[in-house]
Amino acid sequence: MENYNVTKFEPFIRNDQYNFIKYELKNIISAYSSIKDKETLNALKLNSLDKILNLFPELSNEQIEYFNYIIEIEEEAQAKHFLEVLKQFVIPFTNLTDKTIRKLFPKIKKLRVPSLEELNLKQISYFGWNDIGLGRKFLIVEYKGKLMGIEGTFKVTNKGICSLCNRYEEIGLFMANVKSGKESYTNRGNYICKDSQKCNENITSIDKLNYFIEILKN
Ligand SMILES: [Zn+2]
Repeated sequence: MENYNVTKFEPFIRNDQYNFIKYELKNIISAYSSIKDKETLNALKLNSLDKILNLFPELSNEQIEYFNYIIEIEEEAQAKHFLEVLKQFVIPFTNLTDKTIRKLFPKIKKLRVPSLEELNLKQISYFGWNDIGLGRKFLIVEYKGKLMGIEGTFKVTNKGICSLCNRYEEIGLFMANVKSGKESYTNRGNYICKDSQKCNENITSIDKLNYFIEILKN
């Protein structure tokens, strides 16, 4: 396990898939602290491995072999090490600069772009931030290989299920200003995480995000 032979794969894992794998490994580790039966533990790991392999329809034999190391994981240190190596194969989000972000929101003159210094492009499925003063939320998503900016009003509500990450979090009602037809704008509401960074850590499937974008595009 320690010195497995990692072929230098091209990045092939998305942030949501990385999170999915992380959660599966977390489940395995916690099972080891509560379950003693070897067969049950093995069945659990095979089930996790199966789910992980199913995320990627076109794996090479080397990649399958690499994921098979999951079967050997029993302790947290091993899971950590596996995830550390895995991180190299995560596809980063499109590079974001102050300039590219401003271009995505041309109508907003006083756009306050957050600091991008701490931003890890491998840890986001979308980029989002709040402008508390304006009561607005800004989202940048990748749509058909291109960056797309979505902005709207944001009103923090009670805790609830986020429609992007599907987890119980601090959420708010996001009403997107979307072009509909020629000049008119319609608002479409969705409850999403207040903390977009947290949301990105939670996302284990990109389906809901894609659905969200599709709805706004229509
Ligand atoms: Zn969320």
